[in-house]
Amino acid sequence: MTTAKIAIVGGGIAGLVAAATLARQGFRPDLFEAAPELGGRAQTRVLDGFHFNQGPHALYVNGAFNAVLAGLGLSAPGRRLRLDGALAVWGDETHPLPTRLVATGSAPPLSSAETAALAEVFARLTHGDYDGAGSPLRTFTAELPEAVRMVIEALVRVSSYAHAPEDIDAKAALDQVRLSFGGVLYIDGGWRSLVSALAGVATEAGARLRSEHRVMAVARAHDGWRIDLAGQRAETFDAVILAVAPSVARDLVAGSDHIAAAARSTQPLRTMGLDLGLSATSPGAGFVLGMDAPVYMSLHSAIAELAPPGGGLLHVARYLAPDETPSPAHIEGLEQLADRLQPGWRDRLVHKQRLVGINVVQDYPRWRQGGRRTPVVVPDAPGLFLAGDWIGETGMLSDAAAASAVVAAREAAALLVGAPPQT
Ligand SMILES: Cc1cc2nc3c(=O)[nH]c(=O)nc-3n(C[C@H](O)[C@H](O)[C@H](O)COP(=O)(O)OP(=O)(O)OC[C@H]3O[C@@H](n4cnc5c(N)ncnc54)[C@H](O)[C@@H]3O)c2cc1C
Repeated sequence: MTTAKIAIVGGGIAGLVAAATLARQGFRPDLFEAAPELGGRAQTRVLDGFHFNQGPHALYVNGAFNAVLAGLGLSAPGRRLRLDGALAVWGDETHPLPTRLVATGSAPPLSSAETAALAEVFARLTHGDYDGAGSPLRTFTAELPEAVRMVIEALVRVSSYAHAPEDIDAKAALDQVRLSFGGVLYIDGGWRSLVSALAGVATEAGARLRSEHRVMAVARAHDGWRIDLAGQRAETFDAVILAVAPSVARDLVAGSDHIAAAARSTQPLRTMGLDLGLSATSPGAGFVLGMDAPVYMSLHSAIAELAPPGGGLLHVARYLAPDETPSPAHIEGLEQLADRLQPGWRDRLVHKQRLVGINVVQDYPRWRQGGRRTPVVVPDAPGLFLAGDWIGETGMLSDAAAASAVVAAREAAALLVGAPPQT
């Protein structure tokens, strides 16, 4: 056990991974979370047996977050999404979703030549036979037949939430589709199961997880950092990991030009979501993806334990482009999509959750930035580190949050024990 004091601000996935990692290394980090519950955007609300994540959440089997969980000795209580029977929406028509496995012969409405072109792209993705770093996804997809372009851009949307083919870095986008080929898990009991497992590991190893502790400022003090807390005494630490949104990090740390510039440069990905708790579901497709419209629908309860017996938990979502303003028409469009694919849902509605323009991630790899996000180490604030889904080089979504948290924990530990960080 070391006496060095480390604070973590923010109790979402990034903060919890940092806390668990440091505690396992013999530190006793203090984690401050403003909300009464830990978990941030990975929280799950439970209403009458319906487990409402904050919109549709899927864990990438081969992703960094799952690897971090495994490294902590945790196994995600999830079940693999199966895509047999999945549908693609093309205007008024629906057709089987042309997945990697079924893109042989002809995948209507694609012609056989288009299907062959799609199969070739899938083979390239499978083998990692592409580059595209430093160029937009659209440069890659523009070379493809129109219908194939639509399929690939839809797969990028569903795997990264990015409805931004002109902005997202092509390599990062295609890496994410490739990652999706390894499968995703829907989590029994919702992502709160992952949150409480992480919190359990962290607490057991000696971390103190302090919810309802809002940090008001993080300021230099002697050799370390002072944390000002709402309604509590200030405390000082040798190192601080900020696992909060970019604007929060900027407001907390006055005097770091680096964090201010990073916060200005981030670009969130947002979505409109309709999460429906139903007393019963209709037979039909469990998974539907828009090809010519940026929409998604999935009956998560058909895979994981998320609804009471006989009931269903349906997620419908519309991906927003970076400059798009959320509008009530988007939600109406989602209700109409549900009418079309889960007819009668309105009569079976028990609980409804609407997400209007929620930030899915705080930043994503954009080609103009060379596909890079803000680094963990803050050059003008020694002892301060950043973690979250807007930080670091690895992965997207919760994978980025978890991967950057591990790096932040490693850097903080290395600073405090004076050893160089492992690579
Ligand atoms: C609709 C939707 C769908 C998603 N789908 C997926 C998916 O399918 N797969 C996937 O991998 N990821 C998905 N994500 C993304 C995933 O939820 C996030 O990447 C991840 O939860 C981010 O964790 P974080 O710790 O970086 O940030 P957050 O969860 O935002 O945590 C930050 C925490 O800091 C706290 N905080 C803020 N200010 C203060 C303060 N002053 N003092 C103390 N605490 C403070 C907040 O309360 C919050 O708990 C989705 C997100 C959304 C919204």
